[in-house]
Amino acid sequence: MNPSSKVVYITFDDGPIPECTPLVLDILSKYGIHATFFMVAENAQRYPELLQRVREEGHSIGNHTYHHLRGCKTTKQTYMQDIAVAKQVLQTSLFRPPHGRMTCSQKKALREAGYQIYLWDVLTHDYNPKYTPEKMLRIVQRFTRNGSIIVLHDSLKSKDRMLQALPQIIKWLQAEGYTFQTLK
Ligand SMILES: [Zn+2]
Repeated sequence: MNPSSKVVYITFDDGPIPECTPLVLDILSKYGIHATFFMVAENAQRYPELLQRVREEGHSIGNHTYHHLRGCKTTKQTYMQDIAVAKQVLQTSLFRPPHGRMTCSQKKALREAGYQIYLWDVLTHDYNPKYTPEKMLRIVQRFTRNGSIIVLHDSLKSKDRMLQALPQIIKWLQAEGYTFQTLK
């Protein structure tokens, strides 16, 4: 994003789930910041109260497909249909492909359908048990620049490490003078 202003975008993929999302929201609220949640629509449909809470607290919502489909292993037609169903649930045109990948024809079809596609430039590896919260913080410290999009995971697999690292990451970014915006 814009490299001339000291802004970062924190994003959470794969939620919402009751074991994790409320805790993420409490942390964001404590530090007074907003983030973008790329939701798996199947989860959002199962937990509509979480979808509503994320929206009511001023965060942005993005589409991460209905079934967390891997684009490269899915036909364009199936991929587009799955995303269209997710859009009905999530009411957003922001999109992030699961696993950060899709085919060129899927990307083209999504752009033509009016989706804004966002990947990331700072990957914390929070889903990887070999990455401690301290190591995640060091990645953020090393790679964050103006306009960076940081990805974390609102999932059972990442939960413990991510929830420990998140306050440290926010505190460091705030101390460095970054402000936080949501993707639009
Ligand atoms: Zn994902």
